[in-house]
Amino acid sequence: MKKFCYVCGKEQDTKIITKEEVSIIRGEEIKSESHIRICSFCKEELFDEELDEENIQRTYYIYRKKYEILSQDEIKEVREQYGLSQRLFAKLLNIR
Ligand SMILES: [Zn+2]
Repeated sequence: MKKFCYVCGKEQDTKIITKEEVSIIRGEEIKSESHIRICSFCKEELFDEELDEENIQRTYYIYRKKYEILSQDEIKEVREQYGLSQRLFAKLLNIR
């Protein structure tokens, strides 16, 4: 895909690279693989709205996953504290 590169000052072939980036979501560091479009000629990172949107979605997905894992651990802790069976506890919380 050709895009205007502001460094080269003209339309250039571009390619997409994968780079690990760290974002902060509500004070939490979230590492995610971002897809970034670069100029094939000078390697400058070029803004791509579509890829940028995907990167944000991916980061939030990782954040949600992480948060769910944490809360599941907390649930397990409470369950064990009261010696409830998993089935009974799920019934109490109305989880299937
Ligand atoms: Zn360029």
